[in-house]
Amino acid sequence: MTNDLRDPRPNLVGRPPREIAVLLENCVDRPYRARQVGQWVIDRNATGFEEMTNLTKEFRAELGRRFRVSDPEILDRTVAADGSVKWLFGLSDGLAIEGVSMPEEGKLTMCLSSQAGCAVGCTFCVTGALGAGRNLTPDEIVGQYRVILRELETPVDRVNIVFMGMGEPLLNTTHLGTALETLYERVSPKRITVSTAGILPGIRWLAGLSRRPKLAVSLNAPDQERRQLLMPIARRYPLPELMAELRGFPLERGRRITFEYVLIRDLNDRVADAETVSRLIREIPSKVNVIPLNEDAQHFPEHRRPDDDTINRFAVTLRDAGLTVTVRWSKGLDVDAACGQLKGRHQGKVPR
Ligand code: SAH
Ligand code: SF4
Repeated sequence: MTNDLRDPRPNLVGRPPREIAVLLENCVDRPYRARQVGQWVIDRNATGFEEMTNLTKEFRAELGRRFRVSDPEILDRTVAADGSVKWLFGLSDGLAIEGVSMPEEGKLTMCLSSQAGCAVGCTFCVTGALGAGRNLTPDEIVGQYRVILRELETPVDRVNIVFMGMGEPLLNTTHLGTALETLYERVSPKRITVSTAGILPGIRWLAGLSRRPKLAVSLNAPDQERRQLLMPIARRYPLPELMAELRGFPLERGRRITFEYVLIRDLNDRVADAETVSRLIREIPSKVNVIPLNEDAQHFPEHRRPDDDTINRFAVTLRDAGLTVTVRWSKGLDVDAACGQLKGRHQGKVPR
């Protein structure tokens, strides 16, 4: 069943077991029944009540009158040569969001959206160019994972989730928190990563959680001056304060903070910049993910991707300084599927 704005029945998708228990309180004879429903929706990824064959017909009918189990609709999917897929999902109010799934070494990484659009407005990001959208609700967040899991028939123990799709997850902490709690039923927090542009109150919120996903921070520049040029939000949350917060961020054993660094030609790609970055983050258990810019001539013609030599030199400089570095040689670039360049291209034009 797909989402429908006119459907007043609460959606059971995206809710952790305790919320399902509360919702079902008045229509179950024993708490055990609510747990069974939760298992169907969360553990078995059910799409409707008719599948819940260990419940009586009457109970299923009653559930169907009062609740729904619905996911975002698949509007489009584009498959790249390397097996990554870009998914375009339709929401109940007509908005469209994107997700990407990328097969990697026996795992499937899902890059999911947390908002439809983004108010942060980084000057190299198409989602940012779309402007502020709205926060996704827990069912819309978890629904992306449910649909991809189902469509690709992926065993759940192979799944990694990264919130690097559209939007700034730490500007949507309430719904993200509920979605995480639900996802944790099936996916360990250490296989979930939340990526942020550096929203300090959101990072503090994460730090206070009893079960934390992994943290990725989009650094993107070696100093405050260039950072605020690329990421206007850096004015509000300046680099020195961000770094101070990250130095105090609680890390589980063996965990590290990932710093993402979008590499833009002549802007932040010099060897000296890599050296500054290494000094900046040296004391933090971390790794760096260098992301060569995905160019977009329409939205930011002034920004270009550095040539491969420059990219390699930057990465090697970081490595020589003792850091762990990966370069994202864009997966699925041939279909624009690269995580981090999601644009919800059909936004507003989706026939519904
Ligand atoms: N709002 C969050 C998460 C979504 S963006 C954040 O900013 O971290 C996910 C990643 O994609 C970020 O590291 C961002 O810097 C990167 N990104 C955005 N636009 C990009 C582009 N055009 N090319 C390469 N990476 C990009
Ligand atoms: Fe928003 Fe992240 Fe894009 Fe910046 S990079 S505009 S924070 S989605």
